[in-house]
Amino acid sequence: MKKNARLLYLLAVWTFFIFLSSTAKPLPTDDENPAATPPGITYVLSMPEPQTHYFEVEMQLKNVAATTSSKKNGYLDIKMPVWTPGSYLIREYAKNVEAFTATAAGKAVRSEKIRKNAWRVYTGDDNVTIRYRVYANELTVRTSFIDADHGYVTPAGMFMYHDALKTYPHRVVIQPYKNWKHVATGLEPVAGANFTYEAPDFDLLVDSPIEIGNHRTFGFTASGIPHTVVMFGDVEYDEKRLQADYKRVCEAAASVVGEHPCKHYTFIVHHIPTGGGGLEHLNSTTLETYRNAYSTEANYKGFLTLVAHEYFHLWNVKRIRPIALGPFDYENENYTHMLWLSEGCTSFYEDYILRRAGFHTPETYLNIVANDITGIENQPGVRVQSAAESSWDAWIKGYRPNENSNNTTISYYSKGSVLGTLLNLAILAGSNGERSMDDLMRFLYNEYYKKQKRGFTDDEFRKAAEQIAGRSLDDFFSIGVNSAEPINYNTYFEPVGLQLTNVAAKTQDGFLGVGISAAGGKSTVTSVRRGSAAYTDGLNVGDEILSVDSVRVGDDLLRLISNRQVGETLKVLVNRSGLLREIPVTLTPNPLASYRLTQLPNVTPEQKALYNKWLYIK
Ligand SMILES: [Zn+2]
Repeated sequence: MKKNARLLYLLAVWTFFIFLSSTAKPLPTDDENPAATPPGITYVLSMPEPQTHYFEVEMQLKNVAATTSSKKNGYLDIKMPVWTPGSYLIREYAKNVEAFTATAAGKAVRSEKIRKNAWRVYTGDDNVTIRYRVYANELTVRTSFIDADHGYVTPAGMFMYHDALKTYPHRVVIQPYKNWKHVATGLEPVAGANFTYEAPDFDLLVDSPIEIGNHRTFGFTASGIPHTVVMFGDVEYDEKRLQADYKRVCEAAASVVGEHPCKHYTFIVHHIPTGGGGLEHLNSTTLETYRNAYSTEANYKGFLTLVAHEYFHLWNVKRIRPIALGPFDYENENYTHMLWLSEGCTSFYEDYILRRAGFHTPETYLNIVANDITGIENQPGVRVQSAAESSWDAWIKGYRPNENSNNTTISYYSKGSVLGTLLNLAILAGSNGERSMDDLMRFLYNEYYKKQKRGFTDDEFRKAAEQIAGRSLDDFFSIGVNSAEPINYNTYFEPVGLQLTNVAAKTQDGFLGVGISAAGGKSTVTSVRRGSAAYTDGLNVGDEILSVDSVRVGDDLLRLISNRQVGETLKVLVNRSGLLREIPVTLTPNPLASYRLTQLPNVTPEQKALYNKWLYIK
């Protein structure tokens, strides 16, 4: 997943789709002899009043007795996932459910709620129908939404499941609102049945978002595979240009592993006023972007990096995955130390793919790498939290930031992206340019996805990386991945003839160390940098800064102190929770770095050759 283009980013239902779809059991469509039909679930999804933001769900469980002891128990438990793969936060989707009822043989049966996301239905019947409504008024890539214009379904928050039926076919019959003509999803359509789709199991259903309405679509073929792009939202675009550029990005992404595992692929693109991001799925993705995403070159390139990121996930995380990320536990957190790989290295690849496809020049790419390093090194949390810890704590830290997060955490996206660059360089150097990160991705795909049909452990990943690099990567893993210690970047850049230097100007300008919300004539502290003057001397988040050295401050604090020098003490008057406090603050030197990559003097032919190999320079 990826949030807010390059800034804050955000993956994964695991199924062996090809394998399972080839062994999928057919779902019955008639009930003449229901007890004899194979087990499975059919959902009928209707939306008669879209303006109220409600979906109506009818869930038909077929031949439950064949799979479960429900008959013996006299009840069955129906559950709603609490999170959706790819977005590592307990979202409590059941909060949007109401009017849960159950019937069997045409008669109402008793049910009761037994946990926050589970209902117990008291029947020993083989065929049970559940009905409920879902409030859907949050248009993001990880939630559901419906209004008078369109409907969007995040299946984890829409479709309930029964544990014993999870590995059986799940069919969805969509009944669009009266004048809506289109349904788009990565699910397989059922031949001869209108708006009817089938997943071989619950995992694949969860992994297939659905768009319903009057959206426009266009298509293209990349790597010999048909791709569909669904465009929701009033937006101007050049279809021919988009077709050509999507194809270039997708084919460059496919060249990493060299095998495309999908029969078809769907992009659902929501054009919205603010926000942005994406969520990856096994053979589709949902992208959220601005309505002006295609209007300037900078916006357009930003959008293409989002396309590259989410598309590359169809390999990295959906198929090349840590062992914890599938099959999923839909009721609890699923912990891994490797989101720096699954997300961060996907962020590394988004730009590396754009370089490969010719959208970034080598110089642009080097600037991106240097800026990424600047970004993480300027965040105090990089010396507190390792990339592995950041991955593990995504559920409580990465997805739940607060005003102190910059001081104590580092994003597994941004640090993972830098680690991807370093691992690629380490493999290139270790193999004398014979192999790169691509070979590691290809090995993991072939060994764990195709051959062993599972994810890999932390140790298996490290072993694979060292095997591909042809040498020990102890420094990379013990310092880079598993610690918050400083990385010696230049040991990675030296083999390609580059050096990383801090080019931040040395000035006597004093540094206060606060984030400020300047609006409505007020300057209010939103963050305090650890170790800064403000941190040491005691400015707090929430303080409204009223004056500095008796000069009234409006929303212009940063301008007022811009020429103050290191060592000067400011008398800062603040409004703190309605009380006035005067706080002396002594300015410190500016600690912020600005890194650049430049050529080393006397580059050898070997360094030059590796540089060209790294950056696809012929
Ligand atoms: Zn991602």
